Amino acid sequence: MRVLVLGGDGYLGWPTALHLSDKGHEVAVLDNFARRQYDVELGAESLVPIEDLSTRTDAWHAVSGKRIERYEGDLLDAEFLFGAVREFRPSAIVHFAEQRSAPYSMIDREHAVYTQHNNVVGNLNLLYAIAEIDPDIHLVKLGTMGEYGTPNIDIEEGWLEVEHNGRRDRMLYPKKPGSFYHLSKVHDSHNIEFACRIWELRATDLNQGVVYGQQTPQTALDPRLATRFDYDAVFGTVLNRFVIQAVLGQPLTVYGKGGQTRGLIDIRDTVECIRLAVENPAERGEFRVFNQMTESMSVRRIAEVVADRFPGPVQIENLDNPRVEQPEHYYNVKHTGLIGLGLEPHLLSDTLIESMFDIVGANKHRVNDDRLRPTVRWRGAVEAS
Ligand code: NAD
Repeated sequence: MRVLVLGGDGYLGWPTALHLSDKGHEVAVLDNFARRQYDVELGAESLVPIEDLSTRTDAWHAVSGKRIERYEGDLLDAEFLFGAVREFRPSAIVHFAEQRSAPYSMIDREHAVYTQHNNVVGNLNLLYAIAEIDPDIHLVKLGTMGEYGTPNIDIEEGWLEVEHNGRRDRMLYPKKPGSFYHLSKVHDSHNIEFACRIWELRATDLNQGVVYGQQTPQTALDPRLATRFDYDAVFGTVLNRFVIQAVLGQPLTVYGKGGQTRGLIDIRDTVECIRLAVENPAERGEFRVFNQMTESMSVRRIAEVVADRFPGPVQIENLDNPRVEQPEHYYNVKHTGLIGLGLEPHLLSDTLIESMFDIVGANKHRVNDDRLRPTVRWRGAVEAS
């Protein structure tokens, strides 16, 4: 299949492009390098050095003999986006290309507006590109488990059968997200469902859990193929951050008591889930939703697992929670769709964490210690006024 990966220079987009190429698909990546600009803005680079996109694609060609085409530009530039889709003629488009940090979206008004404008308008341009150029293209869109929040009922895969005053309907599952970033994903999901219903597009919305890990079999083939590894409090995801703090000899910073439960997924499963979704497309007119996570765990438990596995002393420190979230809550998520397509999950009990300690150890001189502690407070804007 021909697959266009939007956000193909990012943490997940790049390894996904490699995985799809490795499996025999014709792949192109598109990116505007916004993520590399946030690094400059925040003063924290990827812990593992990463090459620029052309060096990466050249290295993949040298290692595998396969080519990955590049499109450098912005989803907000509709002319550019339409041009790329017209030229590459994909049968599937995987859409990772959004601002994806909750704390970044909560810095202030400017960052909230940037996040929602970038994410919602980029996705809307994409829906129009698909509808106008080739409505048969399968959109595989990265959403997040954070769209649901933590409701006191089971979380279904996107849809909910509702009985109300004696009548029944199948509705989009109600969402209670926890940041302006997560809200942007909810808005995207609604726009995509509408486009499937009205224009008969086909889409798979992947509500992904928190990803951990840094290597896939393809990125490990050559240092030039490495993907980014974020350690800072704005972009570092929770388990990755704890691993880095353990290696640095710093306490693992748990927000509040750590009773918040999150869905997790290994980066090797992320890329495989995308392959499964691409190779098993949704029907025309179908808005299909999968919960892309393999296990759930409280933040406190994640810290304990990292501490247990680290071969040295580790402290766990409870910080005042800078976010606004329920300290303890019910969390029971259905996630059978991708298993049904053949996913064989790597669970946290596998060996991955140990290999992460080595990767961090080799690069720990690159850490800017000032960026480890949270500085963005969810109530910051209102407290300051
Ligand atoms: P990332 O920031 O590393 O990658 C996103 C890429 O998209 C970046 O390279 C960025 O430059 C590009 N991009 C952003 N806006 C763009 C635009 N307007 N035009 C073109 N390119 C643009 O993020 P990631 O961790 O790889 O996440 C990828 C996707 O997966 C995101 O949509 C994110 O919300 C979702 N997701 C990630 C996680 C996680 O734990 N990392 C969890 C759940 C969902």
